[in-house]
Amino acid sequence: MSKAHPPELKKFMDKKLSLKLNGGRHVQGILRGFDPFMNLVVDDCLEMSPGGQQNSIGMVLFAIGCAPRTDTMWKVVMSEEVGKKVQAVVDRVNQAVTRRPKTLPCVAPRLVAVSKTKPPDMVVEAYKHGQRNFGENYVNELVEKASHPLILSSCPEIKWHFIGHLQKNSVNKLLGVSNLYMVETVDSVKLADKVNNSWQKLRQSSTQRLKIMVQINTSGEESKHGLHPDETVNTVKHIVSQCPALDFAGLMTIGRYGYDLSEGPNPDFQLLLKHREEVCECLKLPVEQVELSMGMSADFEHAIEVGSTNVRVGSTIFGTREYPNTPSPSPEKKSKVVSEEAAKKMQQLTVTEH
Ligand SMILES: *Cc1c(COP(=O)(O)O)cnc(C)c1O
Repeated sequence: MSKAHPPELKKFMDKKLSLKLNGGRHVQGILRGFDPFMNLVVDDCLEMSPGGQQNSIGMVLFAIGCAPRTDTMWKVVMSEEVGKKVQAVVDRVNQAVTRRPKTLPCVAPRLVAVSKTKPPDMVVEAYKHGQRNFGENYVNELVEKASHPLILSSCPEIKWHFIGHLQKNSVNKLLGVSNLYMVETVDSVKLADKVNNSWQKLRQSSTQRLKIMVQINTSGEESKHGLHPDETVNTVKHIVSQCPALDFAGLMTIGRYGYDLSEGPNPDFQLLLKHREEVCECLKLPVEQVELSMGMSADFEHAIEVGSTNVRVGSTIFGTREYPNTPSPSPEKKSKVVSEEAAKKMQQLTVTEH
């Protein structure tokens, strides 16, 4: 345990904390410090039952900073927020649709809640608030989460979207995921063939086609996966004509990070629209049937305003991500911000001298 702690939190050290948790739980304990992830380390913790009994639960970590710990208490503290945030994002999505020009196809956007690195409890909490589409980037994480008993029992109608880079040797594993709804990141003819063949074998006698999107590298950055934009039409043509087990649903892009919207519409999104036009013209597809997956936490409203039908929103719903193996708070969030946020949350706790 680290004794070092940010000045904002100093005044709470070695004091008795009284924490009111979601679900009517109530615990008390002495604040002893912070771990490297900014979790509160609370010692001599007592859980108060509604009947007035006290249960000793020893030393407990409470995450109030940025780290997703699988500690029970943390989940309880966080879950209330997830529901509120999902609802807030849904409201923002609905408002953005009203600002969309009438010239664009009138397709209601789908909100995909990106739950990568976040525990199953948070998925369940968002599901309870009506969220059905969830996105994951890593095959192993998706396989684990989708088969987690909590998810299987609480989220029968969940729709999983795979939005990460897909390697051919992971295709079989991915397609075995229960409630897999869509693979958004097919980015080559070879990968399309592999997914098509695997799905044909897996679905056995069923005739259900697997929804896929074709990922385009609109920003031309080497670090980004996706098809070169010039290959879009031919790749889609191949999928539509040669991959009978696949249901071509649309085009997807990640785009460059940190684009400044004051400089005008995001050129990555404009490029995706342009390629949809081309695809629709060459393959005689109605534009309403070719979706656009674009827009993340920072720009999903703008993406909807210019025609996105599928936005992938992670951190705005679930909080910033912390990756295992990163010893300090993620680069997405500097420690100063973390400690300020933690201090803010501390104000909601009742702190008494002991
Ligand atoms: C992580 C991720 C997202 C969500 O990003 P946020 O900025 O947290 O909303 C969306 N799309 C893809 C492909 C991602 O990898």
